[in-house]
Amino acid sequence: MKQLRRPDPSLRYESQDISDQVADLRQINHKLVMLLAHELGSPLTHVLGYLRLWQERAPIFERVELDLVVEQALTLKDRLDEILLLDQLEAGLWELRCEPTSIQEIVADLVQSQRWRMEEKGLSFSTHIACNDPVNADKEMMRRALDHLLANAYKFSPPRGKVELRVDEIGTYCRVAVSDQGIGIPLEKQSRIFEPFYQVDLTRTRRYNGLGIGLKLVRAIVEQQGGCVDVYSRVGEGSTFTVTVPLAQ
Ligand code: ADP
Repeated sequence: MKQLRRPDPSLRYESQDISDQVADLRQINHKLVMLLAHELGSPLTHVLGYLRLWQERAPIFERVELDLVVEQALTLKDRLDEILLLDQLEAGLWELRCEPTSIQEIVADLVQSQRWRMEEKGLSFSTHIACNDPVNADKEMMRRALDHLLANAYKFSPPRGKVELRVDEIGTYCRVAVSDQGIGIPLEKQSRIFEPFYQVDLTRTRRYNGLGIGLKLVRAIVEQQGGCVDVYSRVGEGSTFTVTVPLAQ
């Protein structure tokens, strides 16, 4: 008869040790982010306040340079907010307010804010909506997630490409697909782009700008709404990112 082996008790201690260490690291990470948010966030808020005052009073010939400085300060603030939000979502300190939400309203809002940028780059931007039912989502966060996917589609597309946003109803779910005809992502790297600070190719990303946590944030937001994010891409042909969330009951 086959003898059952007893589990090695030392292994249990080892896995306990590892999960304690992971919890400790998460705690250190959280403290570091809070410190960063406070030590950089507060002075930055002041800098932005003074810059805005200066912008109001500045003579015309100073405005162009001043606008550039304000733009850079705002980018810094956005990145800091992104890091803070991701940390809060992961630590369970930010609870999404999911309620019946019109996906059509979110799309209309996104079209209004993104169209001019797309057109400025010569991109044709189209939408196709085949889902009339409300989704169960946090409106602001859902908007933020889709806005990031559109910003990536814009960023990684050559001028005169096409960007499409499609909304379809699939059973009890709503699927939003953002497609571009941009540079694409190699198959072996597609699962890694959702890791924090991972960028496919640092040389090309430096050219395109970014922190590399946007997709991780998108996934955290969508998964907290009971949905999922997927990517389909071919190098040189383009990418499609899909966000699937449940319809409201
Ligand atoms: P970032 O803010 O740097 O764009 P993301 O987390 O949004 O960070 O994306 C991670 C990486 O995934 C990007 O740096 C880029 O290499 C790749 N990526 C994301 N979206 C696209 C896309 N639409 N086309 C090509 N590459 C993409």
